[in-house]
Amino acid sequence: MIAGFENSDTMTAAARLLLEIRQAGITDKRVLHAMESIPRDRFIPRAFRERAHDNVALPIGRQQTISQPALVALMTQALEVGDRMKVLEIGTGSGYQAAILAKLCRRLYTVERHPPLLKDAEAIFKTLRLTNITSLLRDGTMGWQEQAPFDRIMMTCAALDIPKQLIDQLTIGGIMVLPVGLEDHDQRLIKLVRTHDGAETEDLGGVRFVPLLHGVETP
Ligand code: SAH
Repeated sequence: MIAGFENSDTMTAAARLLLEIRQAGITDKRVLHAMESIPRDRFIPRAFRERAHDNVALPIGRQQTISQPALVALMTQALEVGDRMKVLEIGTGSGYQAAILAKLCRRLYTVERHPPLLKDAEAIFKTLRLTNITSLLRDGTMGWQEQAPFDRIMMTCAALDIPKQLIDQLTIGGIMVLPVGLEDHDQRLIKLVRTHDGAETEDLGGVRFVPLLHGVETP
């Protein structure tokens, strides 16, 4: 192979992906910049790495998936993350969504129930010098009470209902974005804003995520 060719191919694929993300309605410049600056291929197992710049979900092991980039961008844009904010993510998985959020906020907290997934994600955070991420092996159903309240919460696995404990860990005016529903049924992406006396929700459309499971796996 001629030196440099591989690189320019990757550049083209990355530029094409960014265009697709824009075409999917992502206009927030900070979100687009974060998507541009985090190398998705680093979060993908070697076997699928050549598809890292395709706008598709890919397997990351343990029957889990890294979401489609356009959906990552859409959920990130919907979360309206500011640079002074404290953000919680439930479901670290590959760590890709966490890395994108970390680019946009002051501190990103993320929890995962699979030890090997968490360990791999933490190694990538270190390599990419994403020092504002705090991660933990934990059942995220209960959120992260010790660190609450959060300005923003994102769940990247689907619950049957919106977990009440998570709403309680949001600041007033805080936003949560999460998929709700059964894996093989009509799952909806919900944006929730915590108000003084409850929460307001908005349906952002149909999605398909792996389910929120209880407890943590043993290593
Ligand atoms: N944000 C991830 C998406 C991973 S898929 C990424 O960018 O790659 C969803 C993840 O949620 C899986 O890794 C799964 O193990 C995790 N998960 C499911 N239930 C959980 C729970 N109760 N607590 C923490 N993580 C959970």
